[in-house]
Amino acid sequence: MKIVIVSPDLYTYGAMVIGGVLRDAGFDVTLTKNPDAATATAADADIVLLSLYSTLHLLDERIRNFASAFRSGSAAHGDRAIYVGGPISAYPEIVLGELDVDAVIVGEGEESTVELLENGISEDISGIAFRSDGEIVTTEPKPARIERPLPLIPADIGSQSIRGANTYIETHRGCIGACGFCQVPKFFGTKIRSREIADIIAEIEEFKRCGVRRIAISGGTSSLYQYGKSKSKSVNTGAFIELLQAIARVMGPRNVSVPDIRVDYVSEEVLHAIHDFTMGWVYYGIESGSDEMLKAMRKGVDSERNIYAIELAQQCGVKVGGSFIVGYPEETAEDYEMTKGLIEETFLDDVFVSIAEPIPGTHLSELVLATDDSENPTFMEHVGEYKALKLTESEARCFDLTLHAQMCKAVPSILTDQLYQACLADSRQQGRDVRAVTRLLQRYRGRGDPSNEQ
Ligand code: SF4
Repeated sequence: MKIVIVSPDLYTYGAMVIGGVLRDAGFDVTLTKNPDAATATAADADIVLLSLYSTLHLLDERIRNFASAFRSGSAAHGDRAIYVGGPISAYPEIVLGELDVDAVIVGEGEESTVELLENGISEDISGIAFRSDGEIVTTEPKPARIERPLPLIPADIGSQSIRGANTYIETHRGCIGACGFCQVPKFFGTKIRSREIADIIAEIEEFKRCGVRRIAISGGTSSLYQYGKSKSKSVNTGAFIELLQAIARVMGPRNVSVPDIRVDYVSEEVLHAIHDFTMGWVYYGIESGSDEMLKAMRKGVDSERNIYAIELAQQCGVKVGGSFIVGYPEETAEDYEMTKGLIEETFLDDVFVSIAEPIPGTHLSELVLATDDSENPTFMEHVGEYKALKLTESEARCFDLTLHAQMCKAVPSILTDQLYQACLADSRQQGRDVRAVTRLLQRYRGRGDPSNEQ
């Protein structure tokens, strides 16, 4: 049976993992990241899997057109089918409402995808959603086994760049955090399930053989590797150091990055390991300089802890990137000024600013749905310093904070016209994207959208 996996614009780790599972189950699998060419690639496919990682994919005309064309072609080809998996499967009602597809593979898909492909849609398969007699039927997902075959790695993986890495790899699943804007704990659970080092290393060696020169350890909090295996409920420092040492032996330390770490799960030992066995950067989700906002975001930490973690990393010789979120529904001008103040004080090495995006099913999506547009910074007209630029309040804060951060970094950037325009364009694009996602969410209010269930 011929299967085509479409992972728009990027070979995501999840799409490569599913590809490997299907290959080893005996399917003939092709992985493509080009939605424009997907119709040709899938011309003789029996089944298409759309691996989607952004809510915006549901509004992407390339993907919508491809799904419809494949479905209409299927009428002439008998029992061809198109299924959707990936992070957006957390809100199957919206996926089935927006895309012309046969089913959604909900949650971790390694096992349910094989069952679905072998048997077709059935209520006996866990973790799928489909239409039946006009109703959406969703079966309960269950966590997949953490052991699995090597991924399906495309020949051009070495030319991919995701924040400088050719690919991300997974060392564990789950997160013990509960950040209100994040879907990781709901998708992968709050119990940490760690892979064996030997499995991780075999996978990295295969990536390297296929042309990968730089890897990043994916999402959540890297230092939670093997969390819960020791008696104390804290970072398993020994396991984390052993992991980094083993990865560095294969890739070379300067080709490994540990993108995200919670500020409450770092210590001197963890930071020294990051210094010695990776490219020497840590990325913290600082989000805001206001304790009120950190509470609203359910970060579980305050500004004092954020500043402590930044300073600790700096003392250990580790460069610090910080990510910030602006435009949370209740963020006031005073909250925003506190974020600017924190950036001024901390001399970060790099800063990423995002407008709060309400991913369906998250606490943030509930807040957004409960907030009138007139009070939501995503829609409020900005009437301050940047009035002439005709921005929303979220866009203005995103733009202002990005510019501000450029001047306050440990090595400040020179503000050229090019940089100014790039920051402005990025803020505008983020504003458009978040408004589109919010409107989508509002359309599904009260229609089985999981963000309305609590
Ligand atoms: S710590 Fe990171 S992965 Fe965990 S809930 Fe918060 S944002 Fe999500």
